[in-house]
Amino acid sequence: EIEVRGLHKSFGDNEVLRGIDLEVGSGEVVCVIGPSGSGKSTLLRCVNLLEEPTRGQVFVGGTEVTHPDVDIDAVRRRIGMVFQQFNLFPHLSVTDNLTLPQRRVLGRDKAAAAKAAAENLRRVGLSEKADAYPASLSGGQQQRVAIARALAMGPQVMLFDEPTSALDPELVGDVLAVMRMLADEGMTMMVVTHEMSFAREVADRVVFMDGGVVVEQGDPARVIGNPAHERTRHFLSRLL
Ligand code: ATP
Ligand code: MG
Repeated sequence: EIEVRGLHKSFGDNEVLRGIDLEVGSGEVVCVIGPSGSGKSTLLRCVNLLEEPTRGQVFVGGTEVTHPDVDIDAVRRRIGMVFQQFNLFPHLSVTDNLTLPQRRVLGRDKAAAAKAAAENLRRVGLSEKADAYPASLSGGQQQRVAIARALAMGPQVMLFDEPTSALDPELVGDVLAVMRMLADEGMTMMVVTHEMSFAREVADRVVFMDGGVVVEQGDPARVIGNPAHERTRHFLSRLL
């Protein structure tokens, strides 16, 4: 579903991605781990063209999104993204946060947008917060609203960039549970995370990045439990 080929990204003289090759199959969950500055966020941002790759190709659902003639808006409609910061509109209710992008970006009518909003709030367990405002929700609830907002757009794939890093520890579990549900439902997911237990239990594959390259990837239990590379071992030892 997602294929990255020979991806390079530089910011000025700083070559942040130095030739990434990566595939995420349909229904697959891939967790990307690696030290700060290794290029994990840049990789995700290149997949949905929030950053323009310097070189290389990215395909999503068979479409080359890096092709010069591609309709960027059409690409982004197929890709849901969830960030560390929830980026909800503070002046809109939870429901309006979910319906606004559907109406603006997809051109859905009010009733269809409200229906998708209600369905996806139910999926993340927040139906009772439909009329609440973001400020009245916990961080974990806000992040689940952000996930529901992305899901209401009907994405083909979901990208998560450290979705639990800004949360108090006791709120992390609820968000991971929603992501686990999506994985079980067969959503194609690329997840940057430091949650090793999530990676071990939910991911089909773990990718370790360092210095803008994929150092190793494979079965989660193998990569996390018995890494082949010293750099991976060093990174994991500092997490524990
Ligand atoms: P973290 O774990 O801290 O989130 P990361 O692996 O996600 O790190 P990136 O955010 O992809 O790393 O950043 C990789 C490098 O790219 C860093 O050196 C960063 O300073 C640089 N970088 C990222 N975005 C930009 C930008 N818009 N302009 C210039 N440099 C950038
Ligand atoms: Mg990052």
